[in-house]
Amino acid sequence: MKINQVVVIGSGTMGSGIAAQLCNANIPVTLLDLKTEISEKAKDRIYKSRPPLLIDKSKINNINAGNINDNFEIVKDADWIVEAVVERIDIKHNIYEKIFKERKAGSIISSNTSSIPLKVLSEKLSDDEKKDFCITHFFNPVRYMDLLEIVKSENNDLEKINSLKKFCDKDLGKGTIICNDTPGFLGNRIGVYAMQVALTEAFKMKLSIEEADAVFGRPMGIPKTGVFGLYDLIGIDLMSDVLKSFKKELPKSDEFQTVAKEIPLVKKLIETGYTGRKGKGGFYRMNKVENKKILEAINLETGEYLTSKKINLDSEKMDIKNLINRQDKYGEYAWSVISKIIKYASSLVPGITDKFNDIDEAMRLGFNWSKGPFEILKEIGVKTFFEKIGTIENNKFLENLSKTKDEKFYGERQLYTQMETLGKIKSRALKLDKNNSAEIHRFNDFNIVEFTTKANALDYDSMDSLKNATDKPLIIINESMQFSAGVNLSYTMNFADKRDFKSIEKFIKYFQETCKHLKYSKYPVVSAPSGLTLGGGFEVLVHSNFVASHTNIVVGLVETLVGLIPAGGGCKEMLWRWSQSEEAKKDPDYAPLKVFDIIGYAKTATSPIEAEPLKYLKPEDKKTMSRNSLLFVSKDILDNNKNFTPPAECTFNLSGKVVKEKMIKLLEKLYNDKVILDHGMEVGKELANVLSGGNTTIEKTISEDDLFKLELDAFMRLIETQKTQERIKHTLATGKPLIN
Ligand code: NAD
Repeated sequence: MKINQVVVIGSGTMGSGIAAQLCNANIPVTLLDLKTEISEKAKDRIYKSRPPLLIDKSKINNINAGNINDNFEIVKDADWIVEAVVERIDIKHNIYEKIFKERKAGSIISSNTSSIPLKVLSEKLSDDEKKDFCITHFFNPVRYMDLLEIVKSENNDLEKINSLKKFCDKDLGKGTIICNDTPGFLGNRIGVYAMQVALTEAFKMKLSIEEADAVFGRPMGIPKTGVFGLYDLIGIDLMSDVLKSFKKELPKSDEFQTVAKEIPLVKKLIETGYTGRKGKGGFYRMNKVENKKILEAINLETGEYLTSKKINLDSEKMDIKNLINRQDKYGEYAWSVISKIIKYASSLVPGITDKFNDIDEAMRLGFNWSKGPFEILKEIGVKTFFEKIGTIENNKFLENLSKTKDEKFYGERQLYTQMETLGKIKSRALKLDKNNSAEIHRFNDFNIVEFTTKANALDYDSMDSLKNATDKPLIIINESMQFSAGVNLSYTMNFADKRDFKSIEKFIKYFQETCKHLKYSKYPVVSAPSGLTLGGGFEVLVHSNFVASHTNIVVGLVETLVGLIPAGGGCKEMLWRWSQSEEAKKDPDYAPLKVFDIIGYAKTATSPIEAEPLKYLKPEDKKTMSRNSLLFVSKDILDNNKNFTPPAECTFNLSGKVVKEKMIKLLEKLYNDKVILDHGMEVGKELANVLSGGNTTIEKTISEDDLFKLELDAFMRLIETQKTQERIKHTLATGKPLIN
């Protein structure tokens, strides 16, 4: 089955997201809604969406807009028809009747429902029609959420389901997992249960919401929104509807029922408009006190809001084993929540899927957990788990495991995909070298470096791993959401607070040395970014010999936002890239001025299409929609470059004072227009000094090391200023820049 044309019916949140992703894959798509104005409006929303749903906004008109009355005949030409209308069975049934009258033979029809069983959706279809009908459950926002669940039944033509899966895997870049027709499928069944356990146990054990979120968050490998933060994000009212649907669909004996009971405080929040971030607030709220915005948290016992307290669990060192072994309320809470999730998830095998592995991967792809319940069980250790849990009943999976006590029960990861992914191959490495910030997986012909810190922020150890891994061809790739958000600013500020600037200088020098080493070592280096690739993260990428990029990247040099300038060779490499352009051959100041504009404004790109005109990526860099294929593409690059020779060192001819004066003029205009203030001016001048080559002249050739030195000196002068330190601290505390 080839999918060349698609119709999406319903142009709301999900329909428009699905249409945009098809457009990203260059598949012609038509969006139909009740009226053409509605689907036109959806196109407008797609165009303006932030983060953008489209990889290339100029392609917006590849999405056609129409309505279900005048334009329904388009269904005749479609190979795949996706229904994404409101969650009402009568409306959905009417649409299927229309579709099956109109569609061409052999086409596939799917619903995006999140809660209506396949058997109910398809109850009015003939057996032949049922063969071609399934659920394709995308997650919101479609471009960025990797999970896609395809729900099938025994009526389906399996060959067709597999071919749809292949298309969704490869062309749409989704982690596509096929599952059975059970309520909530895989992701939501376990994900919502986990949230409910975390919530009800917090009430029961009298933890504050900040305490619960601190435990049911990073230390468990769960996003830092935790449970109450996530509740606010999704919408407390929406969660209540989801629970009602689960309660209705699941048997009375299902363990889910015990955690889905209505909680009076939650009911009151919904009734009073405290539905979460979209409402007046939720478990958390922002309150204005004396003209200052203060984050407040609700007291679960009294319903009163109090200033939110930061909980320090020492989470950097707090892995799951340490967490559950703590002899305090946090350890008790963690064990209670984790053990219940493991028990519930394993009780559902083989009912919801015969592959427990798929449950874990669904939690990674759909909920951004760094590991699923079964991997957590593996990490705790089978023996330890059973020692702690006591007797197990009505759970075939655990009963069997308690007999075999097989610590190696897990086997391979990511069974749902045929692709050779990092998740699959890393356990097969010949050797693993790890430090606090990265892991080197050593194979016969190549090494892999995987960063392992929060947002993959870079420090001395990350650089050490990169450097030590260049004794073979190297691929820098990871499984977490970000390639790297840049240099670890807390690490840098720890030194700055102690006024230990020598250590910062030593680190930046080592950063530079490592980047240079990546570029010029004997063996090729490939960076395979996905997600944030900012600041120092981009500097690692830009010094790699090759790039295999996921289309979901946010890339750029953003140092000026915190009152710094790039000092790991970012200025230097951008200057080099821009100096290779035709315009630069005619005008020696063209490249420095362009780079001054890009770095000065901390410009970022949200896709390779946006990154190329800024020269953050090159046309020859490989790009792929499928994150799972990044390793394959990277290995392919290595295979095609067996006779690799490192590039020749770059040299620069910059006009020094001449171009610097042009830059200062630009800064003065911004200053007079109050776009930048005193400190912005200071940072701008330091950037101008680096990009102009300092005290050089156009006749004098300067080296990469000269530029590294200029970057380092400028960086050190800036980091020592009170204002830069203040700006960094502000960003660390709020996640937002302090403009100056
Ligand atoms: P939505 O309310 O944003 O959009 C529904 C759209 O359907 C509207 O534009 C509406 O005008 C249109 N519509 C209604 N009746 C129609 C008809 N007869 N013909 C054509 N269009 C019609 O809803 P949504 O959030 O996009 O959800 C759509 C489906 O996806 C639902 O089944 C929902 O359960 C499921 N889902 C939603 C999410 C989510 O996060 N929103 C996630 C996964 C699945």
